[in-house]
Amino acid sequence: MFVDVHAHLDFPDFENDLAELLSQCKKQAISTIIVNGVDPASNRKILALSNTYPLIKPAFGFYPTHIEEESDEVIDQELQWIEANKPLAIGEVGLDKKEPKNFERQVFYFKKIILLAKKMNIPLIVHSRKAERETIDLLTELHAKKVVMHCFSGKKSLYKEIIEQGWSFSIPSLVSRVEQFQQLVMATPTNQLLTETDSPFLSPTKDERNSPLTIPQAVAVIAGLKKMDTTSMEELIFQNFQRLFL
Ligand SMILES: [Zn+2]
Repeated sequence: MFVDVHAHLDFPDFENDLAELLSQCKKQAISTIIVNGVDPASNRKILALSNTYPLIKPAFGFYPTHIEEESDEVIDQELQWIEANKPLAIGEVGLDKKEPKNFERQVFYFKKIILLAKKMNIPLIVHSRKAERETIDLLTELHAKKVVMHCFSGKKSLYKEIIEQGWSFSIPSLVSRVEQFQQLVMATPTNQLLTETDSPFLSPTKDERNSPLTIPQAVAVIAGLKKMDTTSMEELIFQNFQRLFL
């Protein structure tokens, strides 16, 4: 069985054919798709989707650049809503320094979110674009244990720190054509590997909509890199998911 720990199936890209796509996923043995929320509207849509489709499991979050734009009241209320609605994980959350408008505000709320995930004893699915150093430091300072680094694009020198913390890397299906992710797979112990797509983004086929259907191909690529057979790698990654999330 396969798992996609990071997708955005609530996005309009999937509006017209979600039921059909999910039935194809089921046929391909994709048993769990964790859909990650980015703001209050997205979180509510994901809650509804998870009640309709058994394949979809909810992660509720607040995307770092949206945190810069929302009021304290909205964010604090949303964190209470997240706690009350018991998601499988908290995500997508983290820090983003690509074009930050108020990085201090991101840090302030990411701390609150880390503490909430600890209190709820559920994993954090973490975005760390161009802020990998700061993200690792905050998670370490607050002793976060259940952590998934989503689509990690930081320096190679940071891999070791993350591995030593016992956190996991979710490898995007883009691994089939991006060498940096292949190197990340090579550097990571197999029991710290998970799979994701970030659908509709990061398609391994240029300019196409990505979907969880690209997961089996990614597992085959990861198995090849680790010199294992595909079925064993599939089982191992699914066990990694179960150990961390269930
Ligand atoms: Zn994402």
